[in-house]
Amino acid sequence: MPELPIQPAALLLDIDGVLHVGEEPLPGAIESLRRLRGLTTGVRLVTNTTSRSRRAIVEQLRGLGFELADAEVLTPAALALAHCRSRSYERVSLMVSESLREDLEELEAGSDGEPADAIVLGDLGSGFTAETLNAAFRRLMDGAELIALQHNRYWRRADGLALDVGAYAAALEYASGVEAVVVGKPSPRFVQAALDDLGVDPAAAAMVGDDIEGDIGGGLDAEVASILVRTGKFRADAVAASAIVPTATVDSIAAVPALFGG
Ligand SMILES: [Mg+2]
Repeated sequence: MPELPIQPAALLLDIDGVLHVGEEPLPGAIESLRRLRGLTTGVRLVTNTTSRSRRAIVEQLRGLGFELADAEVLTPAALALAHCRSRSYERVSLMVSESLREDLEELEAGSDGEPADAIVLGDLGSGFTAETLNAAFRRLMDGAELIALQHNRYWRRADGLALDVGAYAAALEYASGVEAVVVGKPSPRFVQAALDDLGVDPAAAAMVGDDIEGDIGGGLDAEVASILVRTGKFRADAVAASAIVPTATVDSIAAVPALFGG
């Protein structure tokens, strides 16, 4: 069980539900981020968002009043890109939303029906049809790797609950027998990638998030002390029902600097 570092060399902060909810910064979040920067050498904002590009995320945060550098935001798409580079994949089929394509444009999209080295699976929305899923299934049967940007079961959109990427990934995994490589939270590889980016050991870092499974579970699996905030999607009953025990739990990001003497 990792302990909170006294002087963290790196802080990994979830964005949605920690810094802001919708179009409102959480109370004290802008000032807290500023103070946290003075208490650590490296900050990475780690989000599981797969519906928007990094540029759009950075622009939104700046619009809300947060100060940040582009390179501080780490998304599953960035991890997928790094993964494909490390494997030298040349033909990658992108099953992602239009708005995410700019983050993955260096990956050559395999055209329909052609074999692929890998499939990057994200939010295809209404593009998830029997046909597109079957095309992906055939590619997997021909040896493609399945890279899932996240593995959530469902999400809540304006008209109600909707199947999320994990559900489609599970269908493809079930049919093909291929296990997806998950690059988003709670995969410890996501947290590790953020630490590698900063050259920091897990014991010298702390994670802050509002999602008991994705943020806290993912952080702890990577041996990083993980602080749960009672904002965003935090639900006490979900925490109680979970086997995951946060390193610390605080009311909001505004209480985090004090954990490090700030
Ligand atoms: Mg969150």
